Amino acid sequence: MRIEIVAVGTELLLGQIADTNSRWMGEHLAAIGVASHFHQAVGDNQERIVLALRTALARSDGVIVCGGLGPTHDDITRDAIAEVMNVPLERDDGVVEKIRALFSSRGREMPDSNLRQADVPVGAVVIPQTKGTAPGLVCPVGHKVVYAVPGVPYEMSDMFDRAIAPDLVGRMADRGETTGVIASRVIRTWGMSESGLAETLADHIDHLDAAPQRAGGPAGTQRAGGAATVAFLASGIEGIKVRVTVRGADAEVASALLDEEEARIRDILTAAAGDVVFGVDDEAIEDAVARALAVDGLTVGLAESLTGGLAASRLVNVPGASRWFRGSVVSYASEVKFSVLGVPEGPVVSEEAARAMADGARRVLGADVGLSITGVAGPDPQDDQPPGTVFVGLARPGSDTESFAFTVPGDRDRVRQYATIAALDLLRRTVGRPPGGRVGSGSAR
Ligand code: ATP
Ligand code: MG
Repeated sequence: MRIEIVAVGTELLLGQIADTNSRWMGEHLAAIGVASHFHQAVGDNQERIVLALRTALARSDGVIVCGGLGPTHDDITRDAIAEVMNVPLERDDGVVEKIRALFSSRGREMPDSNLRQADVPVGAVVIPQTKGTAPGLVCPVGHKVVYAVPGVPYEMSDMFDRAIAPDLVGRMADRGETTGVIASRVIRTWGMSESGLAETLADHIDHLDAAPQRAGGPAGTQRAGGAATVAFLASGIEGIKVRVTVRGADAEVASALLDEEEARIRDILTAAAGDVVFGVDDEAIEDAVARALAVDGLTVGLAESLTGGLAASRLVNVPGASRWFRGSVVSYASEVKFSVLGVPEGPVVSEEAARAMADGARRVLGADVGLSITGVAGPDPQDDQPPGTVFVGLARPGSDTESFAFTVPGDRDRVRQYATIAALDLLRRTVGRPPGGRVGSGSAR
């Protein structure tokens, strides 16, 4: 079963409001196993709404249209649906009474314009309104269907849950389709390019494409679990995400399929490139740092130069950071690096300075692990180094203090953001490993 969404409203096209309704419905369609391959947004124009509906009906089994059911002259979704159905609108007395009652319960008289909301295309079934004035509609078009719901988010979601989802599940059962759950998990990586990830996983993805039933649920359950699909999302300073999507008979089956698939992908990536996966779904790099430090109960202290406290700010995003985060010395001026952190006088954008800063942070802040970040944010070079040059120092118990060099892209803001995540990634890879062990980051020197 394939259902499209058409969001109606010129304000969507003008960028005045975000189309959160389509997003919400996309998520909730997936949760009942309905595929949704297209979303459209269209202005308050009957000709274009009709075109959007016809386009959707030509390639899908049905459409949910939201918005444009209000009482004003630019609320024309009803008229557009009637045109697509090729039927007239007819006033529904039951709906008129409901709207009148709603007004009188608020001590007001119903304006005549609200009568429009009681106009129903002949052959359509009304979804009674419980929260607003506009009823929803279930409109048959041949053997396909158009659902209409108001644009107001809580009215939309109420009608979706109460009427549309049960209707869709019934239709899928009639068609002999197993209803199920479409579920996704995002595997988050740092240290590999998008093309590198795609090449590393290419054989596995080909294998999934070739065997659509392989990842199935319990034996004998028809289409209980289709193959997983894999997509890549480059998310800038949040790394590159590998999204795995599966279909399972229910949430439990889908979750088990995701576990299997996540384990396979982690194995392939680890074998090819080391510890590039730092988390799943909403887990950020700072959560991965917290987890890595917890293994040996270590604390960390920072010395930040070009990042100016960004790294500290990310670490304190994690609830309970006070247990393992000691603080950060924002040693922006060279003299502060010398006097507070004990960095030997000389160039401060260098591996030596990074190591001395990490040692200094560890000592001054009384931390088990010291992490430092120095470099050139730009736009001007410093110490003969071009913008984007970043050195990270790492001091930890039982190991010589190490330093790593990175070159990161972008303008001043991005350089500072990239330097932050690169340093935190190094930290989470290193702690929790035996002292003296190398980090194996592709970008570490
Ligand atoms: P009503 O019956 O209340 O007039 P309606 O069906 O006419 O509702 P619209 O007038 O299109 O709906 O939208 C009402 C409000 O709902 C908008 O002002 C907007 O805040 C919100 N809204 C509409 N469409 C969307 C959408 N796609 N995503 C999020 N919010 C929306
Ligand atoms: Mg309106």
